[in-house]
Amino acid sequence: MKRKLFWAALAAMLAQGAVQSPEEWRRPFAAHRVIGNVYYVGTYDLACFLIVTPQGNILINTGLEDSPPLIRKSITDLGFKLEDVRWLMTTQAHYDHVAAMAEMKRLTGARVLASQADAVLLEDGGKSDFHFGPEYGYAPVKVDERIADGQKLRLGGVELTAYVHGGHTRGSLSYGLTVHEGGKDYRVLIANMGSINPGVKLLHNARYPEIANDYARTFERQKALACDVFLSSHASQYGLHKKYTPGAAYDPGRFVDPAGYRAAVGSAENAYRRQLAEERAGKP
Ligand SMILES: [Zn+2]
Repeated sequence: MKRKLFWAALAAMLAQGAVQSPEEWRRPFAAHRVIGNVYYVGTYDLACFLIVTPQGNILINTGLEDSPPLIRKSITDLGFKLEDVRWLMTTQAHYDHVAAMAEMKRLTGARVLASQADAVLLEDGGKSDFHFGPEYGYAPVKVDERIADGQKLRLGGVELTAYVHGGHTRGSLSYGLTVHEGGKDYRVLIANMGSINPGVKLLHNARYPEIANDYARTFERQKALACDVFLSSHASQYGLHKKYTPGAAYDPGRFVDPAGYRAAVGSAENAYRRQLAEERAGKP
């Protein structure tokens, strides 16, 4: 009986196109200044970053479909306006980072910038994802500009460098910028970690044949990147909750963690190597 109820509930959920997501993805979290003109406006675990410039702001990641009111509140709490967002971007075109992209574009009139490969997903609402099925779909959004690997994006005196770090999605992007604060330069890196979703195959992956090489290249390139201030797509990936408690005073050194960055890249690479070895040995 219980089992029947479970399957009925699951079937209903799938029919609605809804997926169960962790509570931490929806839980509100205190907006805070990360360093200089970089602010955190995400939920407890879904990291969204606001980069403020005199010519309008940049929002990286938009969370789940019901995240916009939380993001708006975070931006307002910091003394900024959601309507001043001029560019919308993402670290990876999966629903937990872009399901609200279309709504955010409607609310702000901002331009959407994405890598070639992630632009395809954004414009088909995740339909062509190599791994996730339709239950992980989201509202499609028109991409206004395709970003190339290594491209420098300039707005209001800010120079963001975009790095294609493929594997998690073909077009996952990390972003680097230099923040000058208190007489020092900090290299800030919003890194999309090379994590592997459960069930994704690295070998003989018909829908993403180059996946293993893309991951390998991502780890090599991430190891070569300078990073003082380590940020990522999920708060848990860069240890936000260990580093910051709501109400704590602004400290530009708070998120400086080059060793944490190297360790995070290293552990993602180890997980990749382990899985690759298991797949080669023919383990299921
Ligand atoms: Zn993802």
